[in-house]
Amino acid sequence: MQSVAEKDTSLLAAHPASVVGYGQMCTRCVMDMSAQGIIFDDIGVCNYCTDFLRKYSDIQKSGAKYLAFQSDFIAQIKRDGVGKKYDCIVGVSGGVDSSYVLYLAIECGLRPLAVHLDNGWNSELATHNISNLVSQLAVDLYTHVIDWEENRDLQRAFIDAHVVDIELLMDNAMLSLNYSQASKYGLKYILSGNNFATEGMRMPEGWYQHKFDKYNIRQIHKRFGVQKIKTHKCISTLDYVWYEFFRKIRRVPFLDYFSYNKAEALKILEEEVGYKPYPYKHYESIFTRFYQAYILPRKFGYDKRKVHLSSLVVSNQMTRDEALELLSMPVYSDPQQEKSDYFYVLKKLGFSEQEFSNYINSPAISHAFYGSERSFSDFLVKIYKVVKRLRYA
Ligand SMILES: [Zn+2]
Repeated sequence: MQSVAEKDTSLLAAHPASVVGYGQMCTRCVMDMSAQGIIFDDIGVCNYCTDFLRKYSDIQKSGAKYLAFQSDFIAQIKRDGVGKKYDCIVGVSGGVDSSYVLYLAIECGLRPLAVHLDNGWNSELATHNISNLVSQLAVDLYTHVIDWEENRDLQRAFIDAHVVDIELLMDNAMLSLNYSQASKYGLKYILSGNNFATEGMRMPEGWYQHKFDKYNIRQIHKRFGVQKIKTHKCISTLDYVWYEFFRKIRRVPFLDYFSYNKAEALKILEEEVGYKPYPYKHYESIFTRFYQAYILPRKFGYDKRKVHLSSLVVSNQMTRDEALELLSMPVYSDPQQEKSDYFYVLKKLGFSEQEFSNYINSPAISHAFYGSERSFSDFLVKIYKVVKRLRYA
């Protein structure tokens, strides 16, 4: 049988991947007209980085307070963990942010349980980084391996639905796993790698879906799935409310309690635990890499590097020229990698080249079209803000 990797790549080459030029670009960051709702002021500065900077300078101003609060917070985690096997959960993907959270947790004398979700798409490098990290730091690791047939059916359903956030499946399952493990061990803290310094720039509307949208996942699968889903982990908005407000399990952006600098963190991880870096953010999973570098730009016209790089520029971790230089490179830095990922993903998900080409060339459909928890979640957030304001009035 002919190897799939040896086949003609004509359909792969048929779709141009140029996503750099999308109309006017901000003069301070690198956001452009591909971001919905972008507005430029008189000197060409956009609302995305202006919003980011406003919030960021608030955090910078109270930096000293945050550092003071850091030791109180860590002491609190330790107190709440007395008598328990662990005192917090750290979800690890193999990426820099979550790896550094685990490293910092150990440095601070915490006793984390590392939790990993294996959805069948880990790159070899990610597997190496995770096993190396937990053994060097002497941390227990719980790995949940997703049922591959179910995962494939769900991913195929999301592709057939033409919705933008295929990663909702993985992100939602990871959240579900973190909360369920925290609940199982009676823990109050999930230390997350989300952080303001490198992720603070908001993702444009339409580039992602509400991450607790179990209803959306169910509805899309009901319409396009072919097999019964029995074991796939899923978490809804109400589950989140239950865990956060009734079980009092807090998911904390741990890196915000430190002066987080990604380049420094990477250097420490490389030197201290033999961590090996990836070319771009979230490239630890083969599917995520293919999704961000192939599907998103070619089908949807989105290049998430613009948001990540803009965050780094505005938080002074990179110059705008450096960001532009990175953006001018192809989304897939290595054409051979692109080719092998393309055939690997198609084969693993069971799509022919023609089917996948038709998918790439078909218009997108919004998540809301299939039914979503988004408006319910927005409603709850509004109520929460009102209650909070009344309580502190
Ligand atoms: Zn901007």
